[in-house]
Amino acid sequence: MTTKTAIVIGAGISGLTTAIYLQRSGIRTLVLEKNANPGGVSTSWKRQGYTFEGGVHWLIGAKKEIPLHQIWLDTGALQDNNPVHFKDPIYTLVDKQGSMPLFRDLHGLEITGLRDRLALWSVRFHLACFKNFHQPIKDLRGLKVRNPKPFSILEYLRMLPAVLITPFLMAQSARGYAKRFKNIRIRQLLAAVVEPEINALSLIYTLGTFQVGDSGYPKGGSLRMAQNMADTFIRCGGEIRYRTTAIEFSHEGKQWSVRTKEGELTADAVVVSVDARSAIDTLFKEPLQDSWAKKMRLGLKTTQCMFLGVGVKADLSSWPRSMQIVLPHPLLAARHTYETLVVNNYANEEGYAPEGCSVITCLLHGPTYGYWKTAEEDGSYSSKKKEVMADFIEAICEVIPEIKDAVAVTDMATPLTYERYCSTFEGSYMTDWPPLRRLYHAPVRYRDGLYFTGQRTAYSGGLPPAAQSGHTTAQTVCKDLGVEFVGVG
Ligand SMILES: Cc1cc2nc3c(=O)[nH]c(=O)nc-3n(C[C@H](O)[C@H](O)[C@H](O)COP(=O)(O)OP(=O)(O)OC[C@H]3O[C@@H](n4cnc5c(N)ncnc54)[C@H](O)[C@@H]3O)c2cc1C
Repeated sequence: MTTKTAIVIGAGISGLTTAIYLQRSGIRTLVLEKNANPGGVSTSWKRQGYTFEGGVHWLIGAKKEIPLHQIWLDTGALQDNNPVHFKDPIYTLVDKQGSMPLFRDLHGLEITGLRDRLALWSVRFHLACFKNFHQPIKDLRGLKVRNPKPFSILEYLRMLPAVLITPFLMAQSARGYAKRFKNIRIRQLLAAVVEPEINALSLIYTLGTFQVGDSGYPKGGSLRMAQNMADTFIRCGGEIRYRTTAIEFSHEGKQWSVRTKEGELTADAVVVSVDARSAIDTLFKEPLQDSWAKKMRLGLKTTQCMFLGVGVKADLSSWPRSMQIVLPHPLLAARHTYETLVVNNYANEEGYAPEGCSVITCLLHGPTYGYWKTAEEDGSYSSKKKEVMADFIEAICEVIPEIKDAVAVTDMATPLTYERYCSTFEGSYMTDWPPLRRLYHAPVRYRDGLYFTGQRTAYSGGLPPAAQSGHTTAQTVCKDLGVEFVGVG
């Protein structure tokens, strides 16, 4: 152990990743978390015997050979108690014509005319370019590392085909990309993989992870994964204070302090894993006016969703695990129209519902923060939530009749729920990345002694950037404090 100390604000995936690496490297680390549980927005919870998975649907880096996997092992996120299930098909289209599966290797799609044959060929070509693409995990230059990751030029050369087609993919939306297929059912199926309005790079990257046999669902879901990480941190000698909110950061020279209701805490390094877009406006004496912060305020678009979970006293195990349901009648919710719904069915997931019962969940994407904020202000928030849930159940019952009259419990989160729970900006959980749009990031080292990590510091968000940024931030802190970085693998 060194004499150095660190405070990490937030026990989400990025905060815990940072904290585990710091503690392992001999820096005495304290985590402050406003909630009573680890995981941040990557969370699941129980209601009357039903488990609602409100976080991980696909874990990238679940496959052993992917470099990111090492972080999931180092941090204890993946252990014997949560083996990953790599499901195939990844999605199944359910509509009035029946069903069509989307397998990892794309076989089984209904390809009829020449246009669709050519379209499938081009998708396969793009996926072939992404076959060796992954987010590299590398050591910072000049950092003393106990078990360094050797830099391999070959690793980067193998990724070159993906890099070369990236501008082409980034210039179009996933929806636009899918239009190369004439068959509308294939377009609808692809729309389940990523939000159709984000760029096609995200679509091909995500399909690429499936193609190589990565991306799966760890048993026990988000909460077990986060709890595994929290337990690992404690086992390494770290301390987590739950229900402790950081109110304000201030500094004297290089020494930063964190004010909480319980008092003021100082450390050699303070790491902010709170959504940086929120933090710049709320956690400093004055809103930050650095040029990156101003750009972030102007340019960042958030990914928002409504989460709906339904516990059903019926056995839905004959329905596919992940469905893209084409509704006979569109669903209107919070002023957005949904013609299709991506529905997850946990009927075959052990322990998620009482015997013979099932859980389904659905994310309704769209910028509804303003709608719910107004509803909160005019007192109609609860009734509007009930309305959305009732309309959702009515819509889904048209396709899955077993749900009718069998609803045991429901739960719903709006962007306001995420804002209240994790202080994310506009209640978002990622950054929107439409075609040709720049992403606005916070720096890892803001000033000597104060660091950012997590969503808004890397790519557009998600679990891989959360883990990767945690690794990078921990290395940056170690380098600045002159401490040897200790990874594990
Ligand atoms: C419904 C849903 C589905 C998703 N599905 C996937 C998926 O399938 N695959 C994938 O890769 N990603 C998915 N994501 C995204 C992924 O979960 C997030 O991008 C990631 O977990 C963000 O982690 P983070 O640590 O950066 O931020 P957060 O999770 O926001 O962590 C920040 C932490 O800081 C705490 N905090 C905030 N303010 C304070 C304060 N003032 N004091 C103390 N603590 C504070 C918060 O409570 C939180 O615990 C999903 C997210 C959601 C919501």
